[in-house]
Amino acid sequence: MVKRKVVQKYTASSSNKEANMNYKLMDHYRRVMTYKQNTVRIQAEYGPIEIPDSDGKVYSFLLLLDGSKRIEELSEISAVSVAEIESGIRMLQKYRLLECPDADKDKAVFSERELLRYKNNWSYSSLYETASESRYTFQSRLKSATVAVIGLGGGTVIAAWLASMGVGRIIGIDYDIVELGNLNRQMLYTEADVGRLKTDAAKERLELINSDIVIETIHQKVTSTEPIIHIVREADVLVGAIDWPLINGPRYVNAACLRENKPLFFAGLRHGSAFIHRILPFQSGCTDCLWLYSTRSSESALSFVNELINEAHVPRINPAFAPNIALLISLVGSEIAKWITKISPLFPNSYTRIGLHDSGLSHHEVPRLSECPSCGRLAGGLKEPIDLQALLDSR
Ligand SMILES: [Zn+2]
Repeated sequence: MVKRKVVQKYTASSSNKEANMNYKLMDHYRRVMTYKQNTVRIQAEYGPIEIPDSDGKVYSFLLLLDGSKRIEELSEISAVSVAEIESGIRMLQKYRLLECPDADKDKAVFSERELLRYKNNWSYSSLYETASESRYTFQSRLKSATVAVIGLGGGTVIAAWLASMGVGRIIGIDYDIVELGNLNRQMLYTEADVGRLKTDAAKERLELINSDIVIETIHQKVTSTEPIIHIVREADVLVGAIDWPLINGPRYVNAACLRENKPLFFAGLRHGSAFIHRILPFQSGCTDCLWLYSTRSSESALSFVNELINEAHVPRINPAFAPNIALLISLVGSEIAKWITKISPLFPNSYTRIGLHDSGLSHHEVPRLSECPSCGRLAGGLKEPIDLQALLDSR
């Protein structure tokens, strides 16, 4: 485990705003802080922090940080200069040991009921508080976000997590009815839902999970970009969880998101693996970039596309088994949460492969290809994806 020696290095004088704030060492760290052998030790989230403290002044100062005192008061009580206290405060903020002193401005948007509902969210996100962003800042970003989930099969499990964590508005779209064969992994549905529209059953169940948010579902086939373009327009971020029509369903969603410049997280299953493809329009590679890349490098990908073009598709093994879906969905939920809250970095690359046999993750970049007919150099203004044969011809 890496031990870090904390070095004071901030000396700027405090602004009026900072001077009038009350600073508080997080309760969790107060409980695990020790002072032995002239050293303050704090077991922080990312490893132990050690602060040399030959006369015990640092330890005493940390104990004073209970949220009730302004910098001047701290200075008077501890007989330490304002400049030194300010320097110490900034050092502690750098290591995310202090509660955000300005948290109340974002806390005010939550009802008493929400404050109770999300109590574990506060606990978790407190680890990421900074001088300017509190646990309430992160949650308020979720509350004001609109996420569209295209496909309410496996997508319902994502929608359930989004509803639980407090995304303020969720729009779901699907055309299917609930079948008995869905119940092996689409846990939002029950036997009583078999035969119902997925959009009806999903809306009902999601509202039971969280009635403090807005749930909208739309019974709609995705046969081009047009049926979903208005949803894409409304959403801040989209989850692609459709696989039908094969290849083209996801391509319509991709094209609609490119048209509206909206971020899209695709989740899907392959034989033996699952994947998350993060598409930031005109930055990272899109769905067609991925097909261009994979049909150039993989015979099986090329034959898959050719089978569809020739209407001779050979069904593959479908690994839609509950634990596989759960593994994939939890990672998608985490990425969406990080995207919205900015609480911590996303996966390092735009494509993450999840091995279903060993649960191993590998990250790859899908580069934006200049020759891509959907997002490349000459792609401006395309409303619908080109047909599959034309896509293959453009390689
Ligand atoms: Zn592209």
